[in-house]
Amino acid sequence: MTLTRTLGVARYGVIPSATSVGSRGTEDQLPKHIFVTGGVVSSLGKGLTASSLGRLLKMRGLRVTMQKLDPYINLDPGTMNPYEHGEVFVTDDGGETDLDLGHYERFIDEALTRSSNATTGSIYQAVMAAERKGEYLGKTVQVIPHITDEIKRRIERVSIDEVDVVITEVGGTVGDIEILPFLEAIRQYRNHAGRDNVCYIHVTLVPFIGPAGEQKTKPTQHSVTEIRSRGIQPDVIVCRSEAPLSTELKHKISSMCDVDERAVINAFDVGNIYELPLLLHDEGLDSVCLDVLRVDDADIDLTSWTALVDTVEAATKPVRIGLIGKYVQLQDAYLSVVESLKHAGFYHGAKIELDWIQAEDVEGLLGQGRLSDIDGLVIPGGFGSRGFEGKIAAARFARENNIPCLGLCLGLHAMTVEFARDVAGLDEANSTEFEASSRHPVIDLMHDQREVTDLGGTMRLGAYYAVLTPGSKVHESYGEPVVSERHRHRYEFNPAYRSRLEEAGLVCSGVSPDRRLVEFIELPDHPFWVATQAHPEFKSRPDRPHPLFRDLVGSAMEHAESNEKSDARVT
Ligand code: GLN
Repeated sequence: MTLTRTLGVARYGVIPSATSVGSRGTEDQLPKHIFVTGGVVSSLGKGLTASSLGRLLKMRGLRVTMQKLDPYINLDPGTMNPYEHGEVFVTDDGGETDLDLGHYERFIDEALTRSSNATTGSIYQAVMAAERKGEYLGKTVQVIPHITDEIKRRIERVSIDEVDVVITEVGGTVGDIEILPFLEAIRQYRNHAGRDNVCYIHVTLVPFIGPAGEQKTKPTQHSVTEIRSRGIQPDVIVCRSEAPLSTELKHKISSMCDVDERAVINAFDVGNIYELPLLLHDEGLDSVCLDVLRVDDADIDLTSWTALVDTVEAATKPVRIGLIGKYVQLQDAYLSVVESLKHAGFYHGAKIELDWIQAEDVEGLLGQGRLSDIDGLVIPGGFGSRGFEGKIAAARFARENNIPCLGLCLGLHAMTVEFARDVAGLDEANSTEFEASSRHPVIDLMHDQREVTDLGGTMRLGAYYAVLTPGSKVHESYGEPVVSERHRHRYEFNPAYRSRLEEAGLVCSGVSPDRRLVEFIELPDHPFWVATQAHPEFKSRPDRPHPLFRDLVGSAMEHAESNEKSDARVT
């Protein structure tokens, strides 16, 4: 039976609305909902568990979308320091969202929108706006029902006709004060959507206690007690552990937490994240969820994912890539860049050895010859002046030594300034982000941002097209004349300097369709010295690496090989 027929009679009611809500699809197309919560500790990999499940359901032929509910007050993570939050993931429609959306997109291979991320702040903002318009008709506005109704509307918003299953991850950990309205909303959702249309997954930790030499289930039991006290009985418990759990332990968790034994799923540590869907499938996660949701177990076709994991395992040829960053202590700040490099490595059979280089240290390291074993460089995006000169020094080192180098957003700024100073003779070139009255502002504000005081959502954000120059490296790389990439920046290449830099040998190899803005630059007589104003890292997939990362790594491998050959000649 197909999913739509399985659904039978519609049971969804209407959420009382203060603000207008998009209309629902026809009743027999209503999607099923899976809610994922976490307990015991944060950073358990809820996002990866949810993403893996999404992929498994997709491989069963279901249409899946995903969403993250975040309990913090910021409207979105756009204004947060990367050390607070990790990377800000940008969607095509310009949403600045949680980095888990990157996992979702990479696993389910669907482009999501800003609707796939809602924070407490954005929910209160909508409620307050409705309150100011008098839409609550004089009533006292309260967490229950008004905030919880708004949360439910956010869940409805992604429950569109084209989707069979919505997976909603609730950020934070049960027991946090901030998470309570979300738990209440998802608790109510089962009644709203119908018992068989909702499945609750709770992800917990089963720690190994060294001195006792045992894996302990008590934290899981406590966490389940906590979520039950909010009225939610998990249908499935995903236990994270270092080593596999024994059948006895699964049995114990099943009886203590009142879930089916086959619904105790063990996600033990795997070598790489892309193995996770296969592990969770072996544990039965997708089939248990579909049983809970009364969806007939459509056959699963794992071929594509098994092939991917084989490719990952075969990627063993070491290639050393330096990442010149400002936030290198927190690797999540560059999550999509790192994943994109890995994807490129899978493609070439290469294992990326990442060298995390603090941008401020570059000049010192170069002085000591410490970057000589690098095969390729990435200069990623960033904000603020700290480390900018180091990024410029890295760009110069790459240019002068024929080291493949890819610049992303601020990376393009650094590479442009470097070229302007060292090749085009504009000694005092700079970006006005760092030197407002620069004599040669080769990077400048191109949009009217001078009056902007609101820092949220005011950058050039989301997908923009670029037209590529035929025969250029980027054109060859993409294999298409027009490409779309996601942006997140205020400053860009100043067209007033374009002809001067081009005369000195820089190629502006991609421009906006109106030809006003420079989107890509490169050097024709360098193996790979390419930069883009955009963030291509948001569009790379494990089985479809982004062309620029693919070609950076390809070029870095050639560099590594030629180094090996010359080393061999010396010895
Ligand atoms: N800080 C730069 C700008 O705002 C670059 C931003 C980025 O790298 N994402 O333009």
